[in-house]
Amino acid sequence: MIGIMKKTLTVSLVALIFVICLSLNLNAVEKKHLIVIDPAHGGQDAGVKLNDKTSEKEITLAIALALQKELASENNIEVILTRNSDTNITIDERKDNILKIKPELLLSLHLNAGFGKEANGFELYYPGFKDLAENKKAEKNSPKNKINKYLNDSVRLANLIKRNMDTLFPRKSRDLRVADAPIIEGLTLPALVLEIGFATNQEEKKKLLSESTQNEIAKALAKSIILFYR
Ligand SMILES: [Zn+2]
Repeated sequence: MIGIMKKTLTVSLVALIFVICLSLNLNAVEKKHLIVIDPAHGGQDAGVKLNDKTSEKEITLAIALALQKELASENNIEVILTRNSDTNITIDERKDNILKIKPELLLSLHLNAGFGKEANGFELYYPGFKDLAENKKAEKNSPKNKINKYLNDSVRLANLIKRNMDTLFPRKSRDLRVADAPIIEGLTLPALVLEIGFATNQEEKKKLLSESTQNEIAKALAKSIILFYR
């Protein structure tokens, strides 16, 4: 009798452990890193003009869509775009949306312009999280260690992007810097603004307009994001 009870108990215990392992495993599979990609500009806000037909808004959207496609096969990553088409969305609307989505990461895409025709290369900005207390939209009383983690994550992703973008848009003098671009100002999450290249530089403009280079940029960004979560 005791032998049977012991056996039943062992079988039940094994079954219980099996169920626990299974549910833990399922949780691991279901846990996705939610990231927001922001193709800057859109609608009436065209951004920098590259030629009669194409402006910054089209290129940021094309790259964002290609990036989403690149990451679609990654089981642990889910990408949401702030816009999927040529629509006019204000910075505040984008930010409100981001606050609702609560992503783990935000990457905003722009093209650079100006600083003379020679200016070239990509540029990355990340938030310094300095004047959070003054911003109403900021998550109130975020603990310091959380802010430090956001900062570390932003820099870590920026370094990965740097490494993977360098072959496409070699940097000469531009680099990583702390700057509160409007889209990241006051948001408390790992965030980056990437100015992909200069629309005012003839050579880079040609690259930015090329669909194959746009896809290469998307691939470089996807690779960086995948490595970030590895
Ligand atoms: Zn822009």
